[in-house]
Amino acid sequence: MKCYLCGLEAQKTDEPHGSQLIDCSDCGIYRVSGLVLKELGAKRFNFAMMRDDLHRQRQFNATLVAEINTETAIWA
Ligand SMILES: [Zn+2]
Repeated sequence: MKCYLCGLEAQKTDEPHGSQLIDCSDCGIYRVSGLVLKELGAKRFNFAMMRDDLHRQRQFNATLVAEINTETAIWA
């Protein structure tokens, strides 16, 4: 599949409750919630701000996996 942020080739793993785990060599690993995936049909992420936030989340939470859900999603 294509990464939801940068559009490059990425690995997708389906998770329970309709969310997906994306592993992009450029953006890193992030989880997209099912609700956000539905909204992605009609909207686009603000790429630069979203990438900054994923970076911040990883540092703040000391995890490799950043979360994109209805609270953290930043739309263009
Ligand atoms: Zn990417």
